[in-house]
Amino acid sequence: MTERLVVIGGDAAGMSAASQARRRRAADDLEIVAFERGHHTSYSACGIPYWIGGATQGPDALVARTAAEHRARAIDLRLGTEVTQIDPERGRVRSRDAAGTEQWTGYDQLVIATGAVPVRPPLPGIDAPGVHGVQTLDDGEAVLRGLGREGVRRAVVVGGGYIGVEMAEAMLRHGLDVTLIDRNEQPMTTLDPDMGRLVRDALEGLGVRVVSGTSVRAVLTGDDGRAGAVATDDAEHPADLVVLGLGVRPQTGLAAEAGLPLGAHGGLLTDRAMRVLGTGNVWSGGDCVEVLNLVSGAMQHIALGTHANKHGRIIGINIGGGYATFPGVVGTAVSKVCDVEIARTGLKESQARAAGLQYVTAVIESTSRAGYYPDAALMTVKILAERRTGRLLGLQIVGREGAAKRVDIGAVALTAGMTVEQMIGLDLGYAPPFSPVWDPVLVAARKAADAVAADSAAG
Ligand SMILES: Cc1cc2nc3c(=O)[nH]c(=O)nc-3n(C[C@H](O)[C@H](O)[C@H](O)COP(=O)(O)OP(=O)(O)OC[C@H]3O[C@@H](n4cnc5c(N)ncnc54)[C@H](O)[C@@H]3O)c2cc1C
Repeated sequence: MTERLVVIGGDAAGMSAASQARRRRAADDLEIVAFERGHHTSYSACGIPYWIGGATQGPDALVARTAAEHRARAIDLRLGTEVTQIDPERGRVRSRDAAGTEQWTGYDQLVIATGAVPVRPPLPGIDAPGVHGVQTLDDGEAVLRGLGREGVRRAVVVGGGYIGVEMAEAMLRHGLDVTLIDRNEQPMTTLDPDMGRLVRDALEGLGVRVVSGTSVRAVLTGDDGRAGAVATDDAEHPADLVVLGLGVRPQTGLAAEAGLPLGAHGGLLTDRAMRVLGTGNVWSGGDCVEVLNLVSGAMQHIALGTHANKHGRIIGINIGGGYATFPGVVGTAVSKVCDVEIARTGLKESQARAAGLQYVTAVIESTSRAGYYPDAALMTVKILAERRTGRLLGLQIVGREGAAKRVDIGAVALTAGMTVEQMIGLDLGYAPPFSPVWDPVLVAARKAADAVAADSAAG
């Protein structure tokens, strides 16, 4: 008998799951219906800041697989159709299409891949024209339309996380005066403050006015009703365009109403196979779930495309009759603002403390290539290693070309549970155009190993 798979959410996690299931099961064995309330499917939100900044084409270039391509593979993709209710008791979902028509669709297997919802605090003026979120391709088009208006000179970016700093770059590339406002003392709070300070210095070096340690109170509008300034605790910052990058939270309202289990961060809880806990045929992945942090042992909500795609593949394999599991994450993320690369993996200091882990730190400066080789660029590397055991706990890097992807050494070392002493012996590639003879990450590992030894000797 033909089973029916229903997917809610037609982007990274949802369509990866649908595609993988289709690869393994033919249409007469598995019918697949995917609901997407937006107008695009399988798009790269990650590319939006670069499209807005002009580094890449868009929006079509950001679509990995079009609706027509999915449909050609016998996936019944229904764009502009929102799922409004999940009824796990009777195994069905209620949907509403663009014409307002409502209907129930039964499922044998359900994938919830509703992603995350951007934080948009209920501040006066926050919904005024000229205030933009950056999550969908439609948002990207709206920002570009805003930038095309006459007399747009000043942009205020609210939020100094990775989307905020990437959007600051995009605004700079349009020649705007850019102010970045963050309530924390330093931007990029996924890093420790000392490393965040380097990002701030870099932003300021690029001409961004960084306003930190203060909260936004309102978006002030002009006579035309459009955003004209952003008011913080103690100042007003003129703005012809406002971009919000205030983070996201899991979009799990429907799941909660259906009585499905949520964790402390509001994300759905799944087992290793990405099956929602306590269910037999409901799966979930991507930005709407919580994941296990392998270093801290804690559940976390980390909204990244890299996880969403893996989750979708795993769900599709399992629904397709195979077997796959998601091991958890170590917390790796990379970003950049202009030529400044930013990377982190593992735990930062506050996370290590929250996990009850004691640690030593090492911070070093080195170069991306041999010092004598042209264009060798400085980078700062910070390592956290556990006291006594010397186990790597975290790695952060801020530098220029060649800095960010070095963090992958740390990701592998964390996954393998390596100590900093073991890292020193890693057989990494070396030639002058690519690194100094001692790679900066290994220099940091050496310093961290010394710190572990000194700490142990001190008792
Ligand atoms: C500007 C930006 C830059 C980013 N850069 C990076 C990066 O560099 N690296 C990285 O790893 N990640 C990055 N990300 C994060 C990455 O895009 C997300 O983690 C990824 O898209 C999550 O995939 P998902 O399928 O879980 O959710 P989403 O991509 O959010 O897809 C969920 C889909 O579900 C639909 N939906 C929700 N509710 C319903 C409903 N009730 N009915 C029907 N449809 C519904 C939504 O319309 C949406 O299309 C970035 C995100 C943004 C916004």
